[in-house]
Amino acid sequence: MKATLFYHIVLGLCIENAGQREFGTLMTFLRLNGILRAKSIRVFIVMRTRITESLGIEFPIVQGGMQWVGIAEMASAVSNAGGLGILTGLTQPSPEDLVSEIKRCREMTDKPFAVNLTILPTIKPVPYQEYAQAIVDSGIKIVETAGRNPEPFLPLFKNAGIQVIHKCTSIRHALKAEKIGCDMVSVDGFECAGHPGEDDVTNMILLPLAAQRLNIPFLASGGLGDGKGLAAALAMGADGINMGTRFMVTQEAPIHENVKRKMVEATELDTSLIYRTLRNTARVFKNSVAEQVVEVESKPGETQFEDIQSLVQGAKGRELFDTGDLDKGIWSAGMIVGLIDDIPTCNELITRIVAEAEEIIKQRLLSAVS
Ligand code: NAD
Repeated sequence: MKATLFYHIVLGLCIENAGQREFGTLMTFLRLNGILRAKSIRVFIVMRTRITESLGIEFPIVQGGMQWVGIAEMASAVSNAGGLGILTGLTQPSPEDLVSEIKRCREMTDKPFAVNLTILPTIKPVPYQEYAQAIVDSGIKIVETAGRNPEPFLPLFKNAGIQVIHKCTSIRHALKAEKIGCDMVSVDGFECAGHPGEDDVTNMILLPLAAQRLNIPFLASGGLGDGKGLAAALAMGADGINMGTRFMVTQEAPIHENVKRKMVEATELDTSLIYRTLRNTARVFKNSVAEQVVEVESKPGETQFEDIQSLVQGAKGRELFDTGDLDKGIWSAGMIVGLIDDIPTCNELITRIVAEAEEIIKQRLLSAVS
């Protein structure tokens, strides 16, 4: 009771008298001294970067575009927690279904959210143009593109006033994205889940390079899942982070509990690289199916996609997420599994990451130079 009263007085005084920086410093002091509880933290932390400003979000944390996972429950939970949630376009079987999913997501959040459009090889042909039109017609204002050069879709998106974030696994692709008019990029290091490209460069190199060479804002993607990662990404010049795997292991992720628990138990060594021989490399969780794929690919001679298709088809991965049968198919997972120890809500996760990053920046880093 006393603490609540004290807190209200402090809050009032701060709003009256202090600038934002002093206000934040005071709140950090109160929190570090145990005067404020964790649940109150969110009210106080102000983290502003070029990305929070242009996307209109509270914290510089963006949810990765995860096939089968990026549905309204996931995206709205991230957006409601102050990050940017992302619906994955191709998770919906048709452009019409994507329109309905966007409507459903709008009923679950009034905060900004985005749609991901991934253009990579698929077993069945995808009508990308129709998905892109569905996104525009639904009034979406932020799109994440991935997999291929998004140039063919840019006139459509830009005429509709959409901000385009392009996912890039190399600096040359990031520079190209900037040149063709993307608003920001998400720089995807080798640690990431899904498709890390073929260059195998980690974020310790990619992010400072991106900071040196890009003018547009960029997100760090791959290997991110805690406050240390956020602080490090900001230190290396990024304007925020993109997290996929970490959001898979949250209460709201539409994935069977067995999968989440398996990822909590996993170490940093529990991912495999598949499709290396097809130059469509993907990082997935190291289960028996991933090991079979690697074995087929290691046989002498050229691998044909048909040799592994029955093991890797997305429909089986979806069944795995629904049933919790961990050897039904493959699922994308990044090296960050080694740092995941619990299954929080998205709100708890984001609050914790931001609070930890703030503490590192204001305490650890500041004390190192003062
Ligand atoms: P799918 O069932 O069509 O294909 C399964 C996997 O095989 C995918 O990874 C696909 O890229 C790969 N593939 C298909 N045809 C191929 C070929 N001819 N040569 C090499 N690889 C081939 O795909 P899905 O699981 O329904 O996923 C739909 C889309 O989302 C795909 O483009 C997939 O790559 C992409 N995806 C992206 C991520 C990510 O990193 N964000 C994760 C999972 C899937």
